[in-house]
Amino acid sequence: MSHLVIDGCAIATMDGEHHGATGAEYRSGHVAITDGVITAVGEGRFAAGPGTRYIDGTGCLATPGLINTHHHLYQWLTQGMAQQSVLFDWLTTLYPLWARIDADQVHAAATAGLAWLALSGCSTSTDHHYVFPASRPGALEAGIEAAAGVGLRFHPCRGSMDLGRSAGGLPPDEVVEDTEEALAATEDAIRRFHDPSPASMVRIAVGPCSPFSVTARLMREAAALARRTGVRLHTHLAETREEDAYCRQSLGRTPVEYADELGWLGEDVWLAHCVHLDEPAVKRLSVTGTSVAHCPSSNARLGSGIAPVRHLLRAGAGVGLGVDGPASSEAATVAGELRQAVLLARLRREDGPAALSARQALWLGTRGGARCLGRDAEIGALRPGMLADVALWRIDGLAQDPIPDPVAALVLGAPAPLELLLVGGAPVVEDGELRTADPRAATRAVRVARQRLFEEAAR
Ligand SMILES: [Zn+2]
Repeated sequence: MSHLVIDGCAIATMDGEHHGATGAEYRSGHVAITDGVITAVGEGRFAAGPGTRYIDGTGCLATPGLINTHHHLYQWLTQGMAQQSVLFDWLTTLYPLWARIDADQVHAAATAGLAWLALSGCSTSTDHHYVFPASRPGALEAGIEAAAGVGLRFHPCRGSMDLGRSAGGLPPDEVVEDTEEALAATEDAIRRFHDPSPASMVRIAVGPCSPFSVTARLMREAAALARRTGVRLHTHLAETREEDAYCRQSLGRTPVEYADELGWLGEDVWLAHCVHLDEPAVKRLSVTGTSVAHCPSSNARLGSGIAPVRHLLRAGAGVGLGVDGPASSEAATVAGELRQAVLLARLRREDGPAALSARQALWLGTRGGARCLGRDAEIGALRPGMLADVALWRIDGLAQDPIPDPVAALVLGAPAPLELLLVGGAPVVEDGELRTADPRAATRAVRVARQRLFEEAAR
């Protein structure tokens, strides 16, 4: 058996009983771990038996490892482009480049992207990959292999697009799949990689891309497939005004009405963005138990708008945080999204400074994320019986030390240095350094992958 104790640190457990309740906090407490599972959390030192490894958490804040509920790791290769475009123009600029990305390039991008997430305190991440040209197989496998290398819990969504430009969709025909083939490949991914066990490191979700790139038939059959195989459903919804107009004009309904009709609302669904929601849509999401992946930096980068997070939380809907693809939120971190979520929520119309507290933001990045991924009983809180996914943040440095409230130091202060990241009790980051991969090697691999991609695209 392996025993580990972190003590002497402030602790924000996020173990509240009710929806949105942030739970117990300790000024100087301990987290005890045995074989990758939390066994004790509380105030003061912890007396453990011989053979226990102690980590001195003095000057630090322990939180649950952060959970990233929306990402497109392959986009690590195409950052800094279409810098002033709205979503639809940004997509049409980037689709032709994405169509050329192969499995080796996905591996380089995913390793770098996940390393960056680990170094900023994220212990569980999704990935939504939806570009599967027939000539470039192996993208899903490459992402899963990269996540195993970096050591993060991974929830890859097997995405798909089957509504090309010639059929009235937005993506060029070269990047869309045949409906049947997309469904068969998704089922194959579930069969090969989905692990439903409590300590699982890989769970697959079914993820057709969006209403403007996927047929109604694929949406319906994907939902049926997910429910038949017991996996979760993820897609983009209500991200921009243009999407709202597209749905009203082409489909005669709002995005949420459309999702509802297709069987895409429910406890097993989490939706990225949900920026443009009317009051009935907020209510419908909450009544059906649907969760939202809120991506504040990406929404700001693309000028998409500000999601009604306060209203969703009040209505009882699940809300987690997502960094979204780095092409629309260059190198965003979940820790950074805590602060961004607070700032944007307070800027939304009349909501003001009470719209979202620092603690509620941390709840979004932990418990809310766990709910999105259906793992509320396993991750997202520091409580006995939960998996030992723990982030330890240094809050005694130049920028954080003057802030007496540890949670405010993390959420409102400058980015806090990460001292330690445990995933299932295993150190992924230690003394601020990534132990599972070499960031310099990852940077070099991305440079090579990018160069090859842009050379091929120029031909
Ligand atoms: Zn996205």
